[in-house]
Parts: sequence; structure tokens; C-alpha cells
Amino acid sequence: MIIDLHTHSSVSDGTDSPAGLVTKAAQQGLDVLALTDHDTFDGLDEAERTAAEVGIVLLRGIEMSTQRDGHSVHLLGYGPREDDPALVAELTRVRAGRDDRLGPLLDRLAELGMPLTEAQVLLHVGQSPSIGRPHVADAMVAAGYVADRAEAFDRFLADGGPAHVPRYATPLETAIALLRGAGAVTVIAHPWGREREQQLPAEVLVELAGQGLDGIEVDHFDHRPDQRERLHALADRAGLLVTGSSDHHGLGKVDHELARHTTAPEVYAEIRRRMAERRRAGPGVDRPPAQAV
Ligand code: AMP
Ligand code: FE
Ligand code: FE
Ligand code: ZN
Repeated sequence: MIIDLHTHSSVSDGTDSPAGLVTKAAQQGLDVLALTDHDTFDGLDEAERTAAEVGIVLLRGIEMSTQRDGHSVHLLGYGPREDDPALVAELTRVRAGRDDRLGPLLDRLAELGMPLTEAQVLLHVGQSPSIGRPHVADAMVAAGYVADRAEAFDRFLADGGPAHVPRYATPLETAIALLRGAGAVTVIAHPWGREREQQLPAEVLVELAGQGLDGIEVDHFDHRPDQRERLHALADRAGLLVTGSSDHHGLGKVDHELARHTTAPEVYAEIRRRMAERRRAGPGVDRPPAQAV
């Protein structure tokens, strides 16, 4: 069984349509694919229809943009009730925050000698319901300012970079409670990627396990081997599930080809078991007690 639990389509910052992504996954021999676009469920119906046609399993998911102490944290949610009012409202707020940042970000780029119009950026947004930094990066490439997305981030757009403009992101604990409240299984994506280890230390992950977090993504391109080892040990200690994924973005990220990293069948089965259990429990019942949202 080849199981990849974190991928993106053109409904966020990937370059494959949901149907194209699922078709490619089937061609490459995957058995289970989770589509986890940033802050939207918009691609899931198309992906699921295609999965039924090509004979693979589509796990419905999302990657929420959250923050803890002002640092960005990505939270994967598997199988939430997608019409949960509190969750829907929060996702709308995050997407609006991303859109509202575009004007100031373009002002910053103009000051840096790289003028771009909103129309130039919109050419690269695909079917995404919000306009993210990767779309701006693509417009910068098209204008000839940088060679690729990676250079756009490394030199200008990355957190703390000269063209970085902060935007709204959900507090991490709130996002866990919202997703759990909607019946989802929650997994922190690439917790220690991009030198984030100090921002989300082991003791914090252990604490979050006690507050309803189900798991952490360990096998991911952005983690070094020594980090994976320590994250595995921590997960054992805290009773957290361990997942792995490609975090595929199509042509949007090199070295993230489908199934580059994968999730163990036993872990996937446990995720499905928890999803079913929480569905049966119904709205609200599984909301962690200490978390007002
Ligand atoms: P946004 O949500 O619009 O602020 O953009 C965040 C997205 O940009 C993330 O989901 C990543 O896909 C991408 N991203 C963030 N930081 C980097 C980086 N340093 N290099 C490449 N891509 C990045
Ligand atoms: Fe992304
Ligand atoms: Fe991510
Ligand atoms: Zn991702």
C-alpha cells in the first residue's frame, strides 16, 4: 500500500488540477492520496470523483494556516465535517487575510524595484479561492525578476524577508479545537521544517498531544534524518501518530514528487478509525474540554 497524506492542487498553490493530481497518483501506483489544499475544501469533490474513476482512495483533508507565538504552523485535518459553521467561518477569515495582504505586498515589491499589478498575479492563481505568496512568486518569475519560486521566497517572500507582509493566521490551539470540533483527525505538518525546531519544541508537541492533537508529520522533505529520529521518539513518548508525505505541489516545489515519503498502513487505518468514531459521536461531542473557540 502506497499512502501519501499531504498534497496540493491548483485549488491552492499546487500546479495540477485536482483531477490531474489524482490521475497522476493512480498512474504512479499510489493506493491512497489525501488532498490537503491550504485553507479550502474546494478541490475535494473533483478529486474524489476522479479517484473513483481511476480506482484509488481519496482522503478528504485540508492544511490550515495557523500560528503560535507569531510563528507559522501548518495543521493538517483529515475528514472534518466541511459544513461545520465555526470551521467554515474561520477558513473564510484566513483566506480573506491572505487576500488583504496582496496590496501591501505588491507595494513592498514595487519599493524593491519589482513592480507587479494585481492582474499579473491573478494570471497565476488557478482555481485557488485566495491569493497566496506562491502565486506572487510565480508572477515574479513570469516578470523575469527571479528564476523560480524558491528564489522568490529565499530572497524576498519568506517569513522575515524584505517583501514579507504578515497576515492573519488562526492560533494553533484554536485550529486544533476547531478541526476536532468538526470531527477531524489533526496532524501538524512538517513541525520542524525550515529551522522551526526552536519555535515548536518537543515539550510543546507533548503538551498539544494532551490537548487533542492526534499526530505529527515526521517523514517530510524538510526534516533532516536526526530530526526524524527525535520526532519518532517524541511521538512514541506522547502517543502521537506519525505520518509521512510528499507535500507535493506539482511544478511548484522541486524534490516533492508524489510518494517521496509515505504513511504506514497501520497509521492510515488508525486515522480512518478515529474519523469514523468522531463522525458517529456527532457535532460537538469530541470537542476537547479545555478549548473554548
Ligand atoms: P501564504 O499562505 O500566502 O502566506 O503562503 C504560504 C505558502 O508559501 C506555504 O504554504 C508554502 O507552500 C509556501 N512557502 C512558504 N515559505 C516558503 C519558502 N521559504 N520556500 C518555498 N515556499 C514557501
Ligand atoms: Fe503550499
Ligand atoms: Fe505546509
Ligand atoms: Zn503542504
